[in-house]
Amino acid sequence: MLTDTLRKCHHLRRHLRDLQAEIDRGPRVLQGQRDTLEEARAAHKAHHEAITQLKVKQRTDEATLKETETRLRKLEGQLLNISVPKEVAAKESEIAQAKAKQGELEDAILATIMEIEQKTGEIPAVEKAWADAQAAFAEFERDAAERLERLKNDQLGSRDALAAAEAELPEEPRAKYNSQVKAHGPDALAGVKNKVCQGCRRGLTDQKWTEVRSGALMACPNCGKLLYPVVE
Ligand SMILES: [Zn+2]
Repeated sequence: MLTDTLRKCHHLRRHLRDLQAEIDRGPRVLQGQRDTLEEARAAHKAHHEAITQLKVKQRTDEATLKETETRLRKLEGQLLNISVPKEVAAKESEIAQAKAKQGELEDAILATIMEIEQKTGEIPAVEKAWADAQAAFAEFERDAAERLERLKNDQLGSRDALAAAEAELPEEPRAKYNSQVKAHGPDALAGVKNKVCQGCRRGLTDQKWTEVRSGALMACPNCGKLLYPVVE
């Protein structure tokens, strides 16, 4: 019956639209996964770079500490050879400043060493997170390729099935059907359930409902969609 063919065509056209939407979504979803991977790559790199920078800071501070210690010894030596109270006071002040700097550097070096130790201890977890991110992306890519192939096969099969179904339409309704689907795609068609058009949710008259069930090509008087009775 004509309406059976319309029902089949509607189902296939909607299915094809859904398939195309899912295929079109693919690149966006892939980009999202790629962004996640790049974030993981950046976090991994930043961790190692932070350790490198801390080691540079440690070496720089150690060199400055060494200079400060040398200067301190020199100042203490100089202090032994002066006796003018004003000069002694000035030298002692210089020594106090150098000692304060020495203390600050020692504290800074200790803090840096502890931070390096902490970050070094975190390396196994950081490496695991990076490896996991790469594995997850590889898995996603593999799944996405399989999914795309499945969708494309479904698309080919559904297109063939649609062409076969549409070929069943008699000449005269086919022209009307073609112009409607050309303009509206799957939305050119609507099922009717309990006398209600599923396209516009308006009720049909008993006469129209009888005509739809008889298998005639009927357009909804309200929304213009081509109608077929829904089979429960
Ligand atoms: Zn309608």
